[in-house]
Amino acid sequence: MEAALDERQDQIHRTGEKPFNLVCNKDSLAGAVSQRACVFCGSRVVLYPIADALHLVHGPIGCAVYTWDIRGALSSGPELHRLSFSTDLQELDVIFGGEKKLYAALIELIERHSPKAAFVYSTCIVGIIGDDMEAICKKVEAEKGIPVIPVKSEGFMGNKRAGYTAACNAMARLIGTGDTTGISPHSINILGDFNLAGEIWMIRDYFHKIGVEVVANITGDGRVADLQRAHGAALNVVQCSGSTMDLAKIMADEYGVPSMRVSYFGVEDMAQALYDVADHFGDAEIMRRTRELVKSELEVLLPKLEFYKKALTGKKAAIYVGGSFKAFSLVKAFRLLGMNVVMVGSQTGTEEEYRELAEITDPGTIIVDDTNPLELTSFLEEKDVDIFVGGVKERPIAYKLGVGFCDHNHERKEALAGFVGMLNFAEEVYSSVMSPVWRFTERFQSGEKP
Ligand code: SF4
Repeated sequence: MEAALDERQDQIHRTGEKPFNLVCNKDSLAGAVSQRACVFCGSRVVLYPIADALHLVHGPIGCAVYTWDIRGALSSGPELHRLSFSTDLQELDVIFGGEKKLYAALIELIERHSPKAAFVYSTCIVGIIGDDMEAICKKVEAEKGIPVIPVKSEGFMGNKRAGYTAACNAMARLIGTGDTTGISPHSINILGDFNLAGEIWMIRDYFHKIGVEVVANITGDGRVADLQRAHGAALNVVQCSGSTMDLAKIMADEYGVPSMRVSYFGVEDMAQALYDVADHFGDAEIMRRTRELVKSELEVLLPKLEFYKKALTGKKAAIYVGGSFKAFSLVKAFRLLGMNVVMVGSQTGTEEEYRELAEITDPGTIIVDDTNPLELTSFLEEKDVDIFVGGVKERPIAYKLGVGFCDHNHERKEALAGFVGMLNFAEEVYSSVMSPVWRFTERFQSGEKP
């Protein structure tokens, strides 16, 4: 049974049951209680890991609390990003304007924390009262001598994807302002990894081993100075196309830096990412090192995966993630473990991405855009899944139904990227699916689940 509202039917597709015609990238249906976040949240998740910048939320305290330490992104140095600052706008500020408060907060915070740059996020109420954030930021920038950048992210201005664009536009103001002397012709920027559990360190290490210099992490373990010289890199390597593709496009237009899309999740996609970068540079030594690296990693990994494959073959998985590009890798990773993906969806997927998902998934697989808890519950029950992959908002849905869960989003503490990440993923899926705890759930005891 499908608990979807009539107005949502065109955002749900079942592979093979009718010609593909899925509607997406539109504002969430009012009252549907979408899993999707607002524009402000979208910009916050992208910029947050820049660790030596000040992040000031101009708005009521609730907006700051909603995104406080939102990704838990790891830093190898400063950790200013983990503090969340807010101007805490109150009723009187709404009536008389919040500009003075914003100015005072910026001056105080910059003096106290000496950041390398400041990002100031606008929220719904700031869009309504019309504070001139641009002017205040300009004034503070002139007085304090660091970049102070307004992020135009009023929550009501669109959906989460518009927040990604706002974040990319903010970063574009930093890029191009640093010295690019000494950057190797075989150099890249890593876009779209947020270093939730140390992934960017693993990825950087792979690139280092094949002889490619990484100029800037955008934005996991990010630094303002690296962003300022990122236009000196020879290539932008973009993961999670939803969040940083706009920045790659800006850099292509303004600085002629080409880009490619990759994914670091799963064996196939990780290897392909390295080969694609090696291929781009057309250097025989880089290609030789890449082959050697992939071969040595697979020799260790594949025998270890066999144990998990044996136990998990035939189990069913459902996926709901932020950007649908990540879903491709997850579908492949589950296949490698012998599992069947029976539902896959995302908050911000594009028509092209969903169409590709329809092509690679098995008949009957549910593909869904911008869903909500009621729909997810009905899909998980209908498909009788063994594990659900999602983020913080999907976890309780799985647990209430007595279904295993794997966090592939903000709350993750185990790196799931790279070759090592595939093993971590298999271990996590195995321990959740096979956990004896499910025997005590209503679903198991009522005989629904053998
Ligand atoms: S910006 Fe608006 S929608 Fe987003 S958290 Fe704040 S009040 Fe809510």
